[in-house]
Amino acid sequence: MFATRSPLWALWASLLAVVLGAATGLPDVIRIGGLFHPADDRQEVAFRYAVERINLDRGLLPRSRLSAQIERISPQDSFHASKRVCHLLRAGVAAIFGPQSGQTASHVQSICDTMEIPHLETRWDFRLRRESCLVNLYPHPTALSRAYVDVVRAWGWKSFTIVYESNEGLVRLQELLKAHGPSEFPIAVRQLGEGSDYRPLLKQIKNSAESHIVLDCSTERIYDVLKQAQQIGMMSDYHSYLITSLDLHTVDLEEFKYGGTNITAFRLVDPEKAEVQKVVRDWMHGEMRYGRKPELAPHVLKKDNLTFIKTETALMYDAVHLFAKALHDLDSSQRIDVKPLSCDASDTWPHGYSLINYMKIVEMKGLTGVIKFDNQGFRSNFMLDVVELTRDGLQKIGTWNSTAGVNFTRTYGEAYTQIVESLQNKTFVVTTILSSPYCMRKDSSEKLSGNDQFEGYGVDLVEEISRILGFNYTFKLVPDGRYGSLNRETKEWDGMMKELLDQKADLAIADLTITYDREQAVDFTMPFMNLGISILYRKPIKQPPNLFSFLSPLSLDVWIYMATAYLGVSVLLFILARFSPYEWDNPHPCNEVPDVLENQFSLLNSLWFTIGSLMQQGSDIAPKAVSTRMVAGMWWFFTLIMISSYTANLAAFLTVERMDSPIESAEDLAKQTKIKYGALRGGSTAAFFRDSNFSTYQRMWSFMESARPSVFASSNIEGVDRVVKGKGSYAFLMESTSIEYVIERNCELTQVGGLLDSKGYGIAMPPNSPYRTAISGAVLKLQEEGKLHILKTRWWKEKRGGGSCRDDTSKSSSAANELGLANVGGVFVVLMGGMGVACVIAVCEFVWKSRKVAVEDRSTSLCSEMATELKMAMRCRGSTRPARNKKNKGSKGGSSQGGLACGGPSDNPHFVSLGHYGQYGFATKDPS
Ligand code: GLU
Repeated sequence: MFATRSPLWALWASLLAVVLGAATGLPDVIRIGGLFHPADDRQEVAFRYAVERINLDRGLLPRSRLSAQIERISPQDSFHASKRVCHLLRAGVAAIFGPQSGQTASHVQSICDTMEIPHLETRWDFRLRRESCLVNLYPHPTALSRAYVDVVRAWGWKSFTIVYESNEGLVRLQELLKAHGPSEFPIAVRQLGEGSDYRPLLKQIKNSAESHIVLDCSTERIYDVLKQAQQIGMMSDYHSYLITSLDLHTVDLEEFKYGGTNITAFRLVDPEKAEVQKVVRDWMHGEMRYGRKPELAPHVLKKDNLTFIKTETALMYDAVHLFAKALHDLDSSQRIDVKPLSCDASDTWPHGYSLINYMKIVEMKGLTGVIKFDNQGFRSNFMLDVVELTRDGLQKIGTWNSTAGVNFTRTYGEAYTQIVESLQNKTFVVTTILSSPYCMRKDSSEKLSGNDQFEGYGVDLVEEISRILGFNYTFKLVPDGRYGSLNRETKEWDGMMKELLDQKADLAIADLTITYDREQAVDFTMPFMNLGISILYRKPIKQPPNLFSFLSPLSLDVWIYMATAYLGVSVLLFILARFSPYEWDNPHPCNEVPDVLENQFSLLNSLWFTIGSLMQQGSDIAPKAVSTRMVAGMWWFFTLIMISSYTANLAAFLTVERMDSPIESAEDLAKQTKIKYGALRGGSTAAFFRDSNFSTYQRMWSFMESARPSVFASSNIEGVDRVVKGKGSYAFLMESTSIEYVIERNCELTQVGGLLDSKGYGIAMPPNSPYRTAISGAVLKLQEEGKLHILKTRWWKEKRGGGSCRDDTSKSSSAANELGLANVGGVFVVLMGGMGVACVIAVCEFVWKSRKVAVEDRSTSLCSEMATELKMAMRCRGSTRPARNKKNKGSKGGSSQGGLACGGPSDNPHFVSLGHYGQYGFATKDPS
């Protein structure tokens, strides 16, 4: 008995039998027993039909006939089952088939094991180890479990919920549970409760926002579970179900075909296979022959839809064929007789193990594909079809086998076309928010309703996309008026994000920024607009032009240095001229031996010379010595550069409008507390500052959070209003595109500084939306066609007062070229000041001279002398006047030829300057 357990032994035995030429042969009638439950008589039909086919074909058992011995038992009554098995054994059977119920099968199994009678099963058996007499054609749990793992991996599901019915189901899902790594998202495992109301459980799954579900329940319950899921809104476009039953094709899925839910399953029997179709058709007629009405629904019969065949039924058909094949193979090696066995005796069937071993090494094709067992006798090498529910019913989209894993036969293009087709005439709920210019209420005297109420960039965008993809849409304003932010404590979203996650909306089209957090929760399309955060502030106040703006080209320091240089060079010139002998000249060239020599560079003349060249004029005094020429040359070079620099800068300073803005960047904002600043509450801008690791932004966030009253605005409009009313005391952190829109219309406002980050707006949809690729494609198409640019121009620059600030800028830029009196007034002031000082000096000179004459004359008083001089000045015409007689006072100048001790021309009252165009000359000692 121990040796017969090995398949190898069976081979040796058959070889030996052939060599020895042992007499072979099978009895004419071979009885096989079948145990069936009356409720599931399809198994019985399959069994009978298979026997009939084998007897008719004669290919497998040409000299023998199979005889089906059928016993009907209750699925729970194992005592009755044992009795019926014993009854069959007493009659003499070569194998026992069935039953399907686990309770009765185990008893049947143990009896067969004792009597060494082959026991063929076709039911799901969760046990991983089995009895030696058992041949189960149902795929082994471990192998089946691997198929689920492979498909879930291929789809890239990170999180999912397993809904199972009984603990046996968990064996089927063991690999799936094991494959989920600890670092990944948690998976939920929930058991379908007793009774037929699964709604509470399904609601819990819905509330957990899970959209990937692995459903493991009996085929009979699938419809109810799906139906109730549909009732509570869990059969949307965004839900995906993986059903572990291999019999999904027997479930009526008519009601779920158009929902867009992704329902996928595996099947072992391909109903499209010609062999299967032939068998099933014969079967239907056979059923009638056995006196039963076919159980197929009339519509199924009419359409000749043959998908009803259950896996276990097909397996029963295959099991009988497998038995016949093994019998045929064994027949060639030994003589087999079937004898009656009594359960009360310790009798066994000697050919039992040989037959079992033959069955385990046989390889044949059946309704359930290639039937082959591994070395442990399990069916772990099989091929499954991956099927998906479409509008046309269940369609094969791929295959799975234990060596190659999942292989999807549907191409990406086919899948895409299918999605685009499913979009036709679908109506999407589009959630949005009132935000200019993306979605605004239309100005109309009539009462508008539905989509007609709204207009804007977002409204036009969805219209363009719907034209490409052919769907309909209805706008729905988000009830809480928020974009969507995650509450870190409750882990709940608000705003448009919540609408999508609750599947109250299919699309969110607004100025909704794509952020990391949001991308984790929902699906976004490609961005349709790029932007960054910036600062909205009131425009800087124009500074009134400064009267002395002509001084601005050079800083005060430079002016002081220039004055110092002027004085320094003048004094140096004076000193060097004194030292240099070449600067001492003969005042009377006719007198070759002069008594005195003169030096033209008195201190005053030196000052006059340097100022003359600084003003780009001249002074008619020219240095003669190399040293003084060196000083003059360098001074001229200095003045050349300084004057050129001054002139070049003057133009810019006089024409450019001086603006005074207290802030130029976010850093400036962060540094001060006088100007308050805030952002939109619950928006991505606030989230940017909240989550930033950059110290400046962290400081800004702390400031914003702690500011009382709150600096946050509930809408962009409110924020803009605060900037306008704040008159410089409030700045609003806003997205650059919205700033662009505002400053195009409100000329008091401007954008301050550059962009603090870079991001985009996208169209959001619930997670796992099958439409993401199609809508993304449409956005790209619109971008490439330039439609997005046209829309932007329309809503930013044209509609609703766009461009009103453009005139303002052009006006101010042209005005900047003209210089008003305010710009150059200072020069006039200086001129008038100079004239005034000259007049005062003239009066002083007049008084001084009159006093001197009066003192010298002694005969006249100062007043009469002044009156005489005044009369003279008023009366005289032309440039001559009568000279006055006065005493020659003689020269006071020394005659030394050089040195600082000598009196210079400045000390000589006869040496006078006649102005810069005049000549230096010597007044005669006696002018008369
Ligand atoms: N676009 C932002 C969002 O999606 C709203 C505006 C803002 O935060 O500045 O949240």
